[in-house]
Amino acid sequence: MGKPTGFMEFAREIPPSRDARLRVLDWNEFHDHLPDDKLRTQGARCMDCGVPFCQNGCPVNNLIPEWNDLIYKNQWKQAITRLWRTNNFPEFTGRVCPAPCEGSCVLGINEPPVTIKNIEQAIIDHAWENGWVVPRPPAVRTGKKVAVIGSGPAGLAAADQLNKAGHLVTVFERSDRVGGLLMYGIPNMKLDKRAVVDRRTKLMEQEGVTFVVNTHVGIDVDVHELMHEFDAMVLACGATKARDLKVPGRDLAGIHFAVPFLHGNTKSLLDSNLRDGQYISAKDKDVIVIGGGDTGTDCIGTSLRHGCRSLVNFELMPQPPGTRAADNPWPQWPKIYRTDYGHEEAAATFGHDPRNYRLLTKEFIGDEQGHVKAVKSIEVQWTANSGKTAMTEIPGTEKIWPANLVLLAMGFLGPEDSIVKQLGLETDARSNFKAEYDNYATSVEGVFAAGDCRRGQSLVVWAINEGRGAARQCDLYLMGHTELP
Ligand SMILES: Cc1cc2nc3c(=O)[nH]c(=O)nc-3n(C[C@H](O)[C@H](O)[C@H](O)COP(=O)(O)OP(=O)(O)OC[C@H]3O[C@@H](n4cnc5c(N)ncnc54)[C@H](O)[C@@H]3O)c2cc1C
Ligand code: SF4
Repeated sequence: MGKPTGFMEFAREIPPSRDARLRVLDWNEFHDHLPDDKLRTQGARCMDCGVPFCQNGCPVNNLIPEWNDLIYKNQWKQAITRLWRTNNFPEFTGRVCPAPCEGSCVLGINEPPVTIKNIEQAIIDHAWENGWVVPRPPAVRTGKKVAVIGSGPAGLAAADQLNKAGHLVTVFERSDRVGGLLMYGIPNMKLDKRAVVDRRTKLMEQEGVTFVVNTHVGIDVDVHELMHEFDAMVLACGATKARDLKVPGRDLAGIHFAVPFLHGNTKSLLDSNLRDGQYISAKDKDVIVIGGGDTGTDCIGTSLRHGCRSLVNFELMPQPPGTRAADNPWPQWPKIYRTDYGHEEAAATFGHDPRNYRLLTKEFIGDEQGHVKAVKSIEVQWTANSGKTAMTEIPGTEKIWPANLVLLAMGFLGPEDSIVKQLGLETDARSNFKAEYDNYATSVEGVFAAGDCRRGQSLVVWAINEGRGAARQCDLYLMGHTELP
């Protein structure tokens, strides 16, 4: 333990973000770094409590107290060695993870928790800056070949682990760039594509992983051909079927799902710095984002950077409480009101938070050209009845909101079914690929599934956890034993 009295001496301090009014003028990452001495002080706040709940709160079980202690002692190289034991890509989680670990930090019972996520990012950024992250190809190859379908965090983690185990791994990706939602979902200001995502996938290439882009397995390539060519397969296709909003006027122009909006923007940004115009623009438009979460926030941040005229965010659920509710105790993930980067930027630009709670969309209203010009909403109330919550509309609360661009960010329903049909895969009740957690074997021999396509829409850190797990089971299947963690 670094400093026994650290948690009593030092307050929690997180790195400042760039000024919200200025950062919407560019697409650079919005977070800054704390200087090393301050980070060490933050590491000293860790109490190294006998039972590290944070480690269980973290889906990859990062060895958090150990690296907190190491950075307090200025031992950065040892810290990155500990971090690599559990997490293939700390530079992704250190930037985008919502940090469930901090929700279960023991200090968080009565004080602000340790800044675990920022420390994680600092350790890996330090390692890259100091040249400690170098290609480490396996010393011996097994001669076995594995196909990974999908290059999101689950596919990348599976590929990284299987390559380390000595197998020859080929990752197939239907997009033109590698990274899944790390590349074409989460925007550049939250996770830099060239400096962070491409840097990692280039390293993986140097270590021997092959990436094949612009190849939609099940459409461009028959999945049976791949089964013939490879000894095993890991499906990491994501949960890409978006939830729709089937209300009158849904077929009007100007209403889009969030991911095509975000994908088109990042692709155009990387291809031409947005000069090619090959993206849906929010410039000078009244924008309504329907749905919250990370996806809704990213639509808000992107629309602001385009220069939208106004911005409103509809949330169906009530506003969460400011502190934990009685039925949401520590160490559970705190379901509390949070202000994310996009909300902060909208407030700085327009003078108010864009979120409107308990709003149900009733209708999209169009102009003579068949383009959306307004959205009709109604307020709802939520009541608990015999353990179930029920939603009812409040009569007389209808409202018309101007809108030229509507972005639907209401979650995802599961993976697409082209591979399911070709392989005859079993799916679960929620249409995800059926495979037990920790086993990952699908109903087809030699085919494993990991990440959002198996567990439903989730988090980057869960995708990494599942990619690692599927790699372990795949290695066991191929070799009869495994040393992968
Ligand atoms: C807009 C948005 C923002 C998010 N922000 C955050 C965040 O800030 N923090 C966080 O922790 N989580 C966030 N998430 C969730 C997180 O991104 C996902 O949980 C995670 O990326 C899932 O990883 P995955 O590898 O399972 O799938 P994905 O990242 O979805 O990758 C799947 C890949 O498979 C490819 N693919 C699919 N089918 C085929 C096929 N047949 N052939 C070839 N390729 C195929 C797809 O093109 C895609 O590239 C966000 C999600 C969205 C939509
Ligand atoms: S990966 Fe996420 S949950 Fe795990 S230590 Fe990092 S921020 Fe916390």
